[in-house]
Amino acid sequence: MSQEGSSSAPLQFPTQTVRGVKDVLPGETPGWRHLEQTCRELFQRYRFQEIRTPIFEFTGLFARSIGAATDIVEKEMYTFADRNGQSLSLRPEGTASVIRAYIQNGLQQESLTRLYYMGPMFRHERPQAGRLRQFHQIGAEVLGAEGPDIDAELLCLLSDLFEQLKLPVTLEINSIGCPDCRPDYVKILQAALNDAKLCDNCQRRQTTNPLRVLDCKEPGCREGTTDAPSIIDHLCGVCDSHFTGVQARLQQMAIPYVINARMVRGLDYYSRTAFEWTTTELGAQNTVAAGGRYDSLNEQLGGKPRPGIGFALGMERLLLLSEPKAEPRADLFVVALGADEEAALLPLIRQMRTAGLTVDRAFGGGSLKSQMKRAGKSGARFTLIVGESELASGEYSLKNMDEGTQESVAADQIIEMIKSA
Ligand SMILES: [Zn+2]
Ligand SMILES: [Zn+2]
Repeated sequence: MSQEGSSSAPLQFPTQTVRGVKDVLPGETPGWRHLEQTCRELFQRYRFQEIRTPIFEFTGLFARSIGAATDIVEKEMYTFADRNGQSLSLRPEGTASVIRAYIQNGLQQESLTRLYYMGPMFRHERPQAGRLRQFHQIGAEVLGAEGPDIDAELLCLLSDLFEQLKLPVTLEINSIGCPDCRPDYVKILQAALNDAKLCDNCQRRQTTNPLRVLDCKEPGCREGTTDAPSIIDHLCGVCDSHFTGVQARLQQMAIPYVINARMVRGLDYYSRTAFEWTTTELGAQNTVAAGGRYDSLNEQLGGKPRPGIGFALGMERLLLLSEPKAEPRADLFVVALGADEEAALLPLIRQMRTAGLTVDRAFGGGSLKSQMKRAGKSGARFTLIVGESELASGEYSLKNMDEGTQESVAADQIIEMIKSA
């Protein structure tokens, strides 16, 4: 019996998706492709290269990188034993796999590596609008650059992206310090939280991960932490000048941002720069892209000391904010009025497609009227009409569907004609 079903629940019909996952249907795929294409072109301009990692890995990779005590690893991963009894997990995010691949394949020999990826991630969360159990991310990782330049460049790339997509988003930045300064701040924060009335979750976090108390959404916790000490006031000299450096570069490029000292990010591996791009138009799911610096992650996973920084954006959420996109129009719809005409047109249809034209046709024939109806419905720019007399003369009727005009065109002129129209 399924975990979710009780004995009274109807049997799940086997041709339904699993709860929390979704088909992306033909009406939606143009929007997905547009987003992917816009990102690919942008990554290319910034000299990022694509990497494609497997969707499942050893569970230990995620436990070691994301943190064994995080919600993701403790509660949300799809973890299973394979037929050899090895514990595997579907990837809940992209960074761990990219770093694993970077170490395993000798990419860390390069002084600077810029990678991007896109694909599905998996988390067993409570499904809601813009949050699915199979969701899709586009992300980037840069390894080997320590200074604030690359932080600013990455934020610039995202700024370009949101400008191109015309999305109303806000950049929030913070520094969450480093292993030199964060432990002292955590002690100060813990002491300050002693008197606060916190939710059950945060009472636990106060000892395990007190930084997370700062980004709890519970009203009581928000109120209880209004006067909490800010990490920005407790950064060491190096972290402080890094953070100042990032801001100076953003200002030089006229990229607007706000400082959000409460933003601490959910994953253990972050250090120094943390950032989120948020929107007010998606209700509770207000983050569309997020990331930060993870200077110790590569070493933590057994690699060389290589500073890193990256981000991921949620495709579903970005698409909820975007105008729907339509499939491009067909160039031509072919109406053949008999079996002979249809057979005679096959080479031309093939030739037109080879020449780059989008060609649709009515399979199975039908009357002129019914085929013209289909041509109109197809949205094609032109319709080619060929009956007995056209076939005999070699002059075909070409109708411009937008203007309603029709003319005779020699068969060997049609491709040229449509291409130049
Ligand atoms: Zn520091
Ligand atoms: Zn709380």
